[in-house]
Amino acid sequence: MIVRAEAERLALKVPTEPYYAGRWGVTRGVGTFDVVDPVTERRLMTVQAAGPAEVDSAVSFARSALDDGAWGRMDGATRGRLLNRVADLLEERSEEFAALESLDVGKPGFEPRAIDLPQSVRTFRHFAGWADKLEGRSIPTSGYMGRPTVSYTVREPVGVVAAITPWNSPTMIAAWKIAPALAAGCAVILKPPEEAPLTSLLLASLIEEAGFPPGAFSVLPGRGSVTGQLLIDHPGVDKISFTGSPETGYKVAVAAAKGFRRITLELGGKSPQIVFADADLDAAADGVAVGIFANQGEVCAAGSRILVARAFYDEVVERLVTRARGVKVGDPFDEGTTMGALINARQLERVSRYIEAGVAGGARCVVGGGRPGRPGYFVEPTLFADATNSMTIAREEIFGPVGTIIPFDSEEEAVAIANDCDYALSATLWTSDVGRAHRVSRGVKAGAVAVNGWSPLDPSLPWGGFKLSGQGRELGWAGIEANTEEKTVTIVL
Ligand code: NDP
Repeated sequence: MIVRAEAERLALKVPTEPYYAGRWGVTRGVGTFDVVDPVTERRLMTVQAAGPAEVDSAVSFARSALDDGAWGRMDGATRGRLLNRVADLLEERSEEFAALESLDVGKPGFEPRAIDLPQSVRTFRHFAGWADKLEGRSIPTSGYMGRPTVSYTVREPVGVVAAITPWNSPTMIAAWKIAPALAAGCAVILKPPEEAPLTSLLLASLIEEAGFPPGAFSVLPGRGSVTGQLLIDHPGVDKISFTGSPETGYKVAVAAAKGFRRITLELGGKSPQIVFADADLDAAADGVAVGIFANQGEVCAAGSRILVARAFYDEVVERLVTRARGVKVGDPFDEGTTMGALINARQLERVSRYIEAGVAGGARCVVGGGRPGRPGYFVEPTLFADATNSMTIAREEIFGPVGTIIPFDSEEEAVAIANDCDYALSATLWTSDVGRAHRVSRGVKAGAVAVNGWSPLDPSLPWGGFKLSGQGRELGWAGIEANTEEKTVTIVL
């Protein structure tokens, strides 16, 4: 396992410039920004930010690569080989990527090693497999003016795709956007999060090493309000794939409306975890605790509303408190750490404000609520009991390790509470009744429902939500559909 000092040394070797038009560097740029370690609060690196000149050049180069270049002419099998090469390179260097992700995001070492990196590798492999299987359909028609016709469809790449990613799982979410778009033959321009750009910049160097032709892939680091906004406003971008907050998602949708460009939005959630009286309570407590405390609760699908059958409410609360007390908050590089630091001071302040709102709103803080006495953006795993679904902490996305435990009296009430929410990304059910598992899965409004476990975030399963959680789906065949246009061709015989 890579230790902190070695990870800090590796960070110094990560490229610190944009990569576009087949080269690293800036022509003019818009200054630099610092990347801060959330655990030590020290600067890790300084990165060159891409500005108007770089965005323009990246978009026009991507367009030429598609329209007149080697990338647009490349067949699916060769695209698949290149994507498999990225997967191999990423797998070979996954220890290094995992360490950099821990350093940059503040998450405990085992999480990127067990989840983010294996999932990213699998995502590249999964979409490598799709690249030469983008078949069309042969469709019978009633002919044309008495003459028979042959009609068929072909799938063509959407074009230039801007991928804008957040800081909570930067490698994995970048893979979710890059791999399907490249498999579909699109040219991709990634704007990584300014808070955690390390692994995205390193991934760009692997994509270059894998042999993608210039223009097929670019990375443009910079501030969201500057580089990100320039990219989403650029008329040469055909599709924007965004993961982040609903507020920024709205800006993306407004920008994309000019020219009716395509969008995929993944905007987080307020996901229910429902524990029924017939559940295996120990397994449920373990699963629910992971659901709210993994990745410091900075997870779009975090199960932040914990709905518990009243008959076992106190028992489940007690079990969850025990699980929370077992969480070891600390430096992600220390052995035994199971929860790291929040991403930055702003996020710490946001989570702290919600904890105060929980207390002020009348919920009972049964564990946590404070900050460990040490530097870094740490907060204790926190649970509120005796809460109602109308409280602020039950309605708004906190994006931190704060769970709200709400009692219910019947299956109908559990579904009604779960659905009384502005978000609809995911839900988790804990029950041993197979009929109830199917009934409630159908009744709950969410893009993904998992029963007696967590949504595996498998690259073959569509991922995304509706309501405030966004629109469109990533991954699996849905990821290919989202990056292609279906063209109909009719030949009158
Ligand atoms: P944002 O939605 O602002 O950031 C997500 C990405 O969008 C980042 O790459 C950001 O760039 C970029 N961005 C920001 N503004 C623009 C813009 N005008 N045009 C184009 N791109 C832009 O989230 P924050 O980082 O500000 O986090 C705020 C809250 O969002 C969190 O507390 C959490 O609730 C939620 N969130 C949800 C996530 C999810 O997985 N659904 C992930 C992250 C946050 P940059 O970082 O460089 O500013």
